[in-house]
Formats: sequence, C-alpha cells, structure tokens
Amino acid sequence: MLEILNLIKAVGGGVKVKSIGAWRMKVEAKKTWMEIDSLEKKRKNGWAAVGLNLIFPGFGYIYCGKILLGVIVFPVAIGILIVTIGFGAFVIYPILIIDGFLAANRYNIKLDEEIRGIMKTCPKCAEKILPEAKVCKHCSYEFPE
Ligand SMILES: [Zn+2]
Repeated sequence: MLEILNLIKAVGGGVKVKSIGAWRMKVEAKKTWMEIDSLEKKRKNGWAAVGLNLIFPGFGYIYCGKILLGVIVFPVAIGILIVTIGFGAFVIYPILIIDGFLAANRYNIKLDEEIRGIMKTCPKCAEKILPEAKVCKHCSYEFPE
C-alpha cells in the first residue's frame, strides 16, 4: 500500500514538474512573440516614406530612422529648389520618390534580420521557428530534449 502511495506521489511530482516546465516554456514563447510583435510594429510603409519626402523633402528618411540624412537632405533640397527657381524639382523629386521607397525597404530588411536573429533554425528544413519550440511547425522535426 505504501509502495503504491509512493508511486502515486512520484508520478504526481513528475507531472507537476513537467507542467511547471511547460508553463515556463509557454511564458518564454509568449515573451519571444511579444518581442517579434513589437519589432513587426516598427515596419515602415514605403508609401508613407514617399509621401513625407514629397511634402517635406528628407522627412521620409527621418521616418525610416535615418535622422541625420533627413536633416541634411531638407535644406539641400530646398536650396536646390530656390536656386533653380523650382526646376530642380524634376531632378530631386524622382530621387526622393524612388529612394523613399528604398529607404523603407532597407529599414524593413534590417528588421527582418533582427527578427530572424531571435528565432532558431530547424536543422532538418532550415525554416525559422521560435527558440522554445520542441517540434518544427514546418516539417515536424522533433528537437532532442
Ligand atoms: Zn523543420
């Protein structure tokens, strides 16, 4: 009888430890998701960068985190527009439109790299998955414990 009780205790203890482990993993996974989510929110919109560059030349760069570049571009662009009595716009605006898009794109690529850095690579299918994952969601590869 005592043996059975001890067995139940042992099994019960094991389950408890396991569930705490699972709970901790869930918390860790949630933290990772929140981290990725907050990075995702930083993603820049190419149209917004272009729109800002059109209204205030250089502000599209500031929006994309290139503050110094934006601060330099603004007076330079205004200066060129004044000196060329507005005709410089034919040169400046195509650049501001195209590079506004590219600036947002460059920012997002860096963001993707940061997100990928948080995740781990599945050794079987090379897909990126959460570092807490025990099973790959792409190829169901099981990680050794
Ligand atoms: Zn996989």
